[in-house]
Amino acid sequence: MEFEFSQEHRIFRSSLKEFLEKEIAPIVDEKERRGGLTKEEALELYAKFKKIGIGYDPESISVYFEDPFYYGIASEEISRVWASLNVVIGMSFPVVFVNLASDQTRDALGKKLEKNQVIGCLAVTEPEAGSDTSNLKTTAVLDGDEYVLNGTKTWISNAPIADVALVAATVKDAGTQEMFLVDKINSPFETSELHKIGWRCAPTGEIYLKNCRVPKENALTNMIAKSLAGEARIPIHEGIAKLFGYMSPLNAIFCMMRAGMALMATGISQACLDASISYAKQRKQFGRPIGRFQLIQDMLFRMAAITESSRLLSYKALYLVTKGDPHARLMSSLAKGYACEGSVKVAYNAIQIHGGLGLSDEYPVERYFRDARMMTIPDGTTEIQKLIVGRELLGHGFSAYV
Ligand SMILES: Cc1cc2nc3c(=O)[nH]c(=O)nc-3n(C[C@H](O)[C@H](O)[C@H](O)COP(=O)(O)OP(=O)(O)OC[C@H]3O[C@@H](n4cnc5c(N)ncnc54)[C@H](O)[C@@H]3O)c2cc1C
Repeated sequence: MEFEFSQEHRIFRSSLKEFLEKEIAPIVDEKERRGGLTKEEALELYAKFKKIGIGYDPESISVYFEDPFYYGIASEEISRVWASLNVVIGMSFPVVFVNLASDQTRDALGKKLEKNQVIGCLAVTEPEAGSDTSNLKTTAVLDGDEYVLNGTKTWISNAPIADVALVAATVKDAGTQEMFLVDKINSPFETSELHKIGWRCAPTGEIYLKNCRVPKENALTNMIAKSLAGEARIPIHEGIAKLFGYMSPLNAIFCMMRAGMALMATGISQACLDASISYAKQRKQFGRPIGRFQLIQDMLFRMAAITESSRLLSYKALYLVTKGDPHARLMSSLAKGYACEGSVKVAYNAIQIHGGLGLSDEYPVERYFRDARMMTIPDGTTEIQKLIVGRELLGHGFSAYV
């Protein structure tokens, strides 16, 4: 391994752990029983997290989002306690573009942004375009100084509570793809909520864009041009900016997001391992703690091996991101594919070790299992991660998909 955590990273991890145990762990079960967080609940949590330097306000963002290691540590530790909450915070990242957008968008959201009170979402997936993101049906038509967006987005994390969405669309006539920062105040859109087996508190939904007018300054290309011209800056690490030279800006950001997802899975795996070790020491059968049975130790071995290797792959991917190394694409997909599939196996074993109680909602491992099962689909399915890794290993001439 070529990297070490700095002293600041270590301090951040330990104070975050303390904060999560004290402020967050006690409220998880009750909130999970009620389902998706309301916007008010999410904003209350955003306000709490701002106090420990996690958020998208100008002060927090320069640490939390600009240094991929802080982002990764937060993803791992928050998910160890409450995976849903990590989705609500992590998937808000399009908020980083607000300061580069049009005057209208900045006027509408600027004050809230100062207080970390803006929720974002990334809207790429459509009913007919999941893995195949090259086939988007949402259209953007330039009309004067505005683009007019029409289409439906589905499975969008934070959609029901978002103030701003980064929407991918096909630009009509040009046939090219573009992304647009759509703020709900100036460019209203409707949403509806979807229900799912895990990440129960993270609201997921559909977005309906009907003649939604967006200033042309809010096109991602124009916002990046603005940042290159030095008019405002995107709070991203210089390594990611370097990756723009090898891949699209979104794919460069995906390198960090996918490593973040891998660390989310690592956090869930760690929670499963911790719960299982504790239970194996305390639960007695045949007159001795079940931890003394070799078959239980075999399960713990496999769970620990997956958790540790997931962590190493994920931080290696983040390290490559900070170096602007194009291998970050391979490593982040490898980490995402491995750690997310791994967390399902780890959570399966955690339930097995807990016996009947593992299936009951009296113990958190059933939630870990449901949350782990979510990990293999969003942000690119495991199959798509395999195809990315295959293409990166073999060369682009071997691409199994476009
Ligand atoms: C909880 C949740 C949150 C999400 N959050 C967001 C979000 O915030 N923003 C967003 O834009 N999207 C989001 N998504 C959407 C997610 O990215 C898609 O669900 C995912 O990319 C898969 O698309 P799909 O569901 O349409 O499956 P499909 O693409 O229809 O895939 C179905 C199956 O076919 C396989 N498959 C597809 N193509 C290939 C291929 N070429 N080779 C081999 N196998 C293939 C897939 O791996 C999968 O097993 C979210 C999804 C979920 C479930």
